[in-house]
Amino acid sequence: MSKKFDAIIIGAGQAGPSLAERMTQEGLKVAIIERKLLGGTCVNVGCIPTKTLVASARAAYVARRADDFGVSIAGEIKVDMGKVKSRKDKIVKQSNDGVTNWLNRMENLTIIEGHARLEGAHNVRVNGELLETDKIVLNVGGRATVPDFPGVDDIDYLTNSSMMDVDFLPEHLIIVGGSYIGLEFAQMYRRFGSRVTVVERSRRLIAREDEEVSIAVQEILEAEGVEFQLGADCIELVKHDVGVRVTTNCKPLNDGPDNDEIIGSHLLFAVGRRPNTDDLGLETANIETDERGFIKVDDQLRTNIPHIWAMGDVNGRGAFTHTAFNDFEILAANMFDGDTRKISDRIPVYGLFVDPPLGRVGMSEAQVRESGCKALVGKMMMARVGRARERSETQGFMKVLVDAETDKILGATILGIEGDEAIHGIIDVMYADAPYQVIQRAVHIHPTVSELIPTMLGDLKPLD
Ligand SMILES: Cc1cc2nc3c(=O)[nH]c(=O)nc-3n(C[C@H](O)[C@H](O)[C@H](O)COP(=O)(O)OP(=O)(O)OC[C@H]3O[C@@H](n4cnc5c(N)ncnc54)[C@H](O)[C@@H]3O)c2cc1C
Repeated sequence: MSKKFDAIIIGAGQAGPSLAERMTQEGLKVAIIERKLLGGTCVNVGCIPTKTLVASARAAYVARRADDFGVSIAGEIKVDMGKVKSRKDKIVKQSNDGVTNWLNRMENLTIIEGHARLEGAHNVRVNGELLETDKIVLNVGGRATVPDFPGVDDIDYLTNSSMMDVDFLPEHLIIVGGSYIGLEFAQMYRRFGSRVTVVERSRRLIAREDEEVSIAVQEILEAEGVEFQLGADCIELVKHDVGVRVTTNCKPLNDGPDNDEIIGSHLLFAVGRRPNTDDLGLETANIETDERGFIKVDDQLRTNIPHIWAMGDVNGRGAFTHTAFNDFEILAANMFDGDTRKISDRIPVYGLFVDPPLGRVGMSEAQVRESGCKALVGKMMMARVGRARERSETQGFMKVLVDAETDKILGATILGIEGDEAIHGIIDVMYADAPYQVIQRAVHIHPTVSELIPTMLGDLKPLD
C-alpha cells in the first residue's frame, strides 16, 4: 500500500520549505522531497556563495587601492583561493544548516532525500516507493544550460555549480555569456587575479537593460582589465594543451581577425538556465509546459491540473529568490487566507551584483518608449553623489522614468555604489502606488546615495 500525504512538495528551494512550514502549521501531513541539497540553488550554488565570493573579491580590490585612501600595505596583494573557498563554504554551510534544522523542527513534515517523479496526478515515486497525495506543489527550479556548441563534448567546462568547488586561480578564465551570472564571475575572478575574457553572442552585455547601462557596466569591468568579445554569433570549442580554444566567429567580424580565437585555461558557461522538468513525469499527469519546458501557471500559481501548483524558477514567471519566495506568499495567501494575491501584482525588481552594483525596478527606458507612454525622465551621474565621491567610487548613474499624466514612477535604475540598496526607496513608492512627489518631498539622510533621489526627481525632463 502506498504512503499517503495531504500534500507533497517536490524541491526544497526558496519556496518549498516556507510552504511546508505553513502547510504543517495548518495541520496538513506533508512530505518534502529534495534530490540534492536543502535550500536549493540560491543557498548552495547561487546567490549566497556568489555574493560571498564577490565580497572576497572586493576585499582584494580595496586592498589594491589602499594607497588611494592613504593607507599603506607593504608588499603585493595576494589572494589565497583555498581560504576564499573555505570562507564561502563556511557561510553556505551556515545557511544550509539553517534550512535543514528549520525543516527538521517542523511537526507533521517528512523530509525525503531522492529524485521525485510524478506517476499520474496523485502519485509521486521516490527511491522506488510510491506516495499518494491530495495536493502536489512543484518547486524544482532550474540548472545551468550547457549549449550544444560544436566540440562541447570534447572539452572540460565549468558551470555555476562546479565553480563552487574551485579552490585555485584559473590562469585565463573564458566566460561564455555576458549577462548577470557571467558578469559577476568575470569581475570576481579578475579581482582574484585571473585573466578573464567574456564571450557574448549579442553586440552588447546584459541586453535586456538600456544600452547606456550595458555600456557603463562594460566600461566599469574593462577598467579593471576584463576583456570582452562581443557579437560572437558562432562559437566552436576545441581541447587545447593549455585548456580550451574558443573560436568566436565562424566569419571574422570587422573587429579584426585577431579577435577570432581565444585560448584559455578554463571555460565557464553562463548562458542561461533551463527548468528541471525533463525527468519529472509531468506527462503522466498531463501538466502543460511551454516550448522551453517551464510549467505553465495561472496568476495564482495553479497548473492546468487543479490540485497541482508550480512555484519559483520552474514556472518561468520569475528567476530570482525574491520571486520564488513571493510565489510561496501568493500560494499560501490563496490556499489558507482567502486572500486572492496574484503574480501580476508583482513589480519587476532585481540586482546585478557587480561592484558597483546595479539596482533595477520596473520598466527600462526602452520599454517605456515602446509602450508609447508620455513620460518624464530624470538622470544623475554618481559623480555628483557625495557618498560616491567620499568613497572614490564615482562610476555609474541613476535614472528614473515617470508617467507624465499620473506622476507615478514607471521604472528606475541605479548603477553605482549602494545602488542595490538605494533602489528600495523607489520600489516602495511604486508598491504604494504613490506619485513621485512622495519621495521627492521626503527628507533623506545626508550623506547617502538615497538623498540624491529627491534631487533627481526635482529635475525631470520630457522623454523625447
Ligand atoms: C550563480 C547564481 C547566482 C544567483 N544570484 C542571485 C541573486 O543574487 N539574487 C537572486 O534573487 N537570485 C539569484 N539567483 C537565482 C536564484 O538562485 C533562483 O532564482 C532561486 O534559487 C530559485 O528558487 P527555486 O525555489 O525556484 O529553485 P531552486 O533554488 O533551484 O530549488 C529547486 C530544488 O529542487 C530540487 N529538485 C529538482 N528536481 C527535483 C526532483 N525531481 N526531485 C527532487 N528534488 C528536485 C533541486 O535539487 C533544488 O534543490 C542566482 C542563481 C545563480 C545560478
